[in-house]
Amino acid sequence: MSRQNFFRRALSASIFMCLAHVTWAETPGAGLARLAGEGAVISDTGGRVEMRVEMSQPVPWRVHTLDAPPRLIVDFSELIWDADPVIQTGSVVQVNSGAYRPGWSRAVVVLREPLAVDAAEMQVMADGSAVMSLQLLPTTAEAFREAAGIDPVEISRVIVAPPPPSGVLRVVLDPGHGGIDPGAEDGDLHEADLMLAFARELKEVLLRTGRFEVALTRDDDVFVPLAERMTLARAAGADVFLSLHADSLAEDDGVASGMTVYTLAETVTDAAALRLAERHAQNDILAGVDLAGVEDEISVVLMDLARRETMPRSDALAARIVAGFRSHELVVNSNPHRSGGFTVLKAAEVPSVLIELGFLSSKRDRALLMSDAWSNSAAEAVRDALMQWADEDYLMRQGLRR
Ligand SMILES: [Zn+2]
Repeated sequence: MSRQNFFRRALSASIFMCLAHVTWAETPGAGLARLAGEGAVISDTGGRVEMRVEMSQPVPWRVHTLDAPPRLIVDFSELIWDADPVIQTGSVVQVNSGAYRPGWSRAVVVLREPLAVDAAEMQVMADGSAVMSLQLLPTTAEAFREAAGIDPVEISRVIVAPPPPSGVLRVVLDPGHGGIDPGAEDGDLHEADLMLAFARELKEVLLRTGRFEVALTRDDDVFVPLAERMTLARAAGADVFLSLHADSLAEDDGVASGMTVYTLAETVTDAAALRLAERHAQNDILAGVDLAGVEDEISVVLMDLARRETMPRSDALAARIVAGFRSHELVVNSNPHRSGGFTVLKAAEVPSVLIELGFLSSKRDRALLMSDAWSNSAAEAVRDALMQWADEDYLMRQGLRR
């Protein structure tokens, strides 16, 4: 077997294993979104036409119109159309729905007369399911033609389910590196091993509270590509994603000690953050992962939209984690909340942070990372931060909704 083939085989085997491993510690894993309840129904409601799509979980989506003939195009990220839409109005000729391109599905609603999108929203129900609804109003052929094909971002919204206050938060822990990518190294000490051990400990600490379900992106010494990690989290219906690292930076960065928590940024000026993000992307390339096409054009629009809602939530979580470490008297970096362009933080609808628990390049951090007392305190600090954040996040989002 050629070396390249070997890697390809090893890689697909490890991806398969990881998919098999992502199961919730307490309940069976959630899968992709499917139609639920009444499914998709288009009906007349008091002078309007309403399209409702009930689904098992919220997904990124968007809507726009096309002319000649007048059509309404509704795209969903990873929604399985396992039933035909029901048409209960004379304003619609037919609906074609199904897979559109990898990761996306589409419903094309052929209209008998020009209708304009008056309101579009996705509501999340208490049980975690979601309902997308479009309100359509009659319009003129001319107005329809002018609006057709226009950027739909203004009217699309992505709303993600809040955990109920007494509910269970689904946490995906992502131990960095693994398999052919050991991460930072210091003698026999590998970042990949340290992070797996810490993730397992944190999982136990979280489960003991009864407030969390916990899944790991890897529970073994296997390689998982970066994009795959966030895809696993999204597919598992994660409420929050924590990537765990303990990297190594050259001393001349001058900042490489203590805990640092990273959130996603569009533009990154922080030199240390740039170097870290590049290093992690580099590990994927070395392992033979093709990064091209991770985000196509349509998903970029949607992801930006969803991130606008998610980013303040990730920032709040990062602040809580810093506060948690401080209240447990653990060492934090002098500039503890930074932002970077890390691929694993790009799951747009899942609040995500990357925690550098410490730096293997720092003698003091290295000793701490290997200490049981420290790792137990660090796990408790993250636990406290998550509990506080979950409560605040819930209240804030309830307030926003009113
Ligand atoms: Zn790392």
